[in-house]
Amino acid sequence: MRKLPLLLISTCFLVNYQAFSQKKTALPPEFSIKKSDTEAHMRFLAADELLGRRTGEQGNLVAARYIAEQFRKLGLIPVPGNTTSGTSTYYQNVPFEKMGANGGGEILAGEEKLKNGEDWILMNGEATDITAPLVYASFGLENAAKGWDDYKDLDVKGKIVLLQSGTPDVQTPSEIIASSTEKRKLAAEKGAVAVIELFNAPMPWNMVNRYFAGERIALADAKDGSKKSIPHAWVNGKEAKITRALRAVQTVTFKTSGRKSQLVNSYNVAGYIQGTDPALKSEYILLSAHYDHVGVGKQGGQAYTPEDSIFNGARDNAFGTVALLTAAEALAKNPPKRSVLIVALTAEEVGLLGGRYYAAHPLLPLNKCIFNLNSDGAGYNDTTIVSVMGLSRTGAKTEIETASKAFGLGVFADPSPEQGLFDRSDNVSFAKEGIPAPTFTPGFKEFNGDIMKNYHQVSDNPETVDFNYLLKFCQAYTYTARLIADRKTAPQWISGDKYEAAAKKLYSK
Ligand SMILES: [Zn+2]
Repeated sequence: MRKLPLLLISTCFLVNYQAFSQKKTALPPEFSIKKSDTEAHMRFLAADELLGRRTGEQGNLVAARYIAEQFRKLGLIPVPGNTTSGTSTYYQNVPFEKMGANGGGEILAGEEKLKNGEDWILMNGEATDITAPLVYASFGLENAAKGWDDYKDLDVKGKIVLLQSGTPDVQTPSEIIASSTEKRKLAAEKGAVAVIELFNAPMPWNMVNRYFAGERIALADAKDGSKKSIPHAWVNGKEAKITRALRAVQTVTFKTSGRKSQLVNSYNVAGYIQGTDPALKSEYILLSAHYDHVGVGKQGGQAYTPEDSIFNGARDNAFGTVALLTAAEALAKNPPKRSVLIVALTAEEVGLLGGRYYAAHPLLPLNKCIFNLNSDGAGYNDTTIVSVMGLSRTGAKTEIETASKAFGLGVFADPSPEQGLFDRSDNVSFAKEGIPAPTFTPGFKEFNGDIMKNYHQVSDNPETVDFNYLLKFCQAYTYTARLIADRKTAPQWISGDKYEAAAKKLYSK
């Protein structure tokens, strides 16, 4: 080896040492996350043994346990005040009802005989045979703030109510599902004996029938399952002769053999990191990703084989869950100015139910939440970018771009706008409350065949994941969260956004 002059050696050493020590103080912990850590999380969460993490089933509960124990190990604390029987917990119990398959029955409206399983689906309720007056009650909703008062001047005691699906302002399938439970509860409170809802979403009836007539899961009407539900039918509202018949009659007969239901629990998993700034730490940023997936075999709703029947959901959404765990590790090690609440959500795949439940039962006041950075992935085909739904709407474009660039990633805004992806993940439950809430996803520019290849398929398994990309994605997500949590001022919706009014209301509280 050639000998270097002594002086040169020592300056080299000095320069290197300085660079090293500067690096150490300047770069936050997400820059030194180990690839093997993110890979291990992914291989566990998307493992065959977790059987597709279907909400309320064993694999889903094991995933929740894994996330909670990682939180504990990484030094996150349970949200102050979140306890079960006096003990602090990372779990937020979300009560579900597991419904058995649709039973038989018929609804008689004048001459028209509507068959269960063909013209309607029993959404809930026990065996019944009733004949009662039918009363039309619009959407069947009450909401003083929105001016909905559909039961005003109506006496529905002992009667069957006929309702429209959805709400006056939203007709998306997930809103129809969620509002439907609320409608049934309200009708029962008003004394109605059954609900007939004219289902009218932009969605083919045969698909609705196939999906809802089988075994399925829904948010429970009552926490302990104590209240018996009144029979509730979704009728094909697109079939003119059915709606005509129902609107023409005074009385209907509602016969059903009932639908079994069983109470099951699943959990949102929440960990908290206190901010460092005395003034800003009362505010927080919410990091979310769903950890549930669709299950195994027939539950997946797509093709499977005896050799591979497990829908592992590596991209959807172990990917986002690993991003949460990465954020948990780095932000707990070196907390930002504002506090951080990390919530791994359940039941996204069955109608965004975990996020919706959380927004209705928040563990910390929502008006102290300045931002929600959600992560959810259908798939990716471009490992040079991350894609962000709502990038230019939610006021943190600079932070997202700076953080991604730090890991060599570009940012692509709103792929396939025609698909309305912004409103199709858990971020929407927070956006609706007014919180700026984009979804940070693995890179793609178009929701095309490339993405569909793995989307809700048995091939979405850890063996097909690019682990170098997973690491960078998780680092960019975490660094984004940090930069936003450290901002002087909170991000704002762009002026004129459809969620801006909700924000004004939320943050003026
Ligand atoms: Zn997803």
